[in-house]
Amino acid sequence: MKKLVSKFLRVKCTDCSSEQIVFNRPAITVKCLTCGKSLVESKGGVGKINAEILEVLE
Ligand SMILES: [Zn+2]
Repeated sequence: MKKLVSKFLRVKCTDCSSEQIVFNRPAITVKCLTCGKSLVESKGGVGKINAEILEVLE
């Protein structure tokens, strides 16, 4: 079984272009602070990313 790695990502909202730091395994869906678009959907593990990933933070 593949190990799932928890990371923080710097993403850019595809709707309003604002940047935000998000967790890739959120317990709840993460929304854009500016426009409310869902950036990472909670899937109970690694979330579904709906934004442009600019950088993976270690
Ligand atoms: Zn947005």
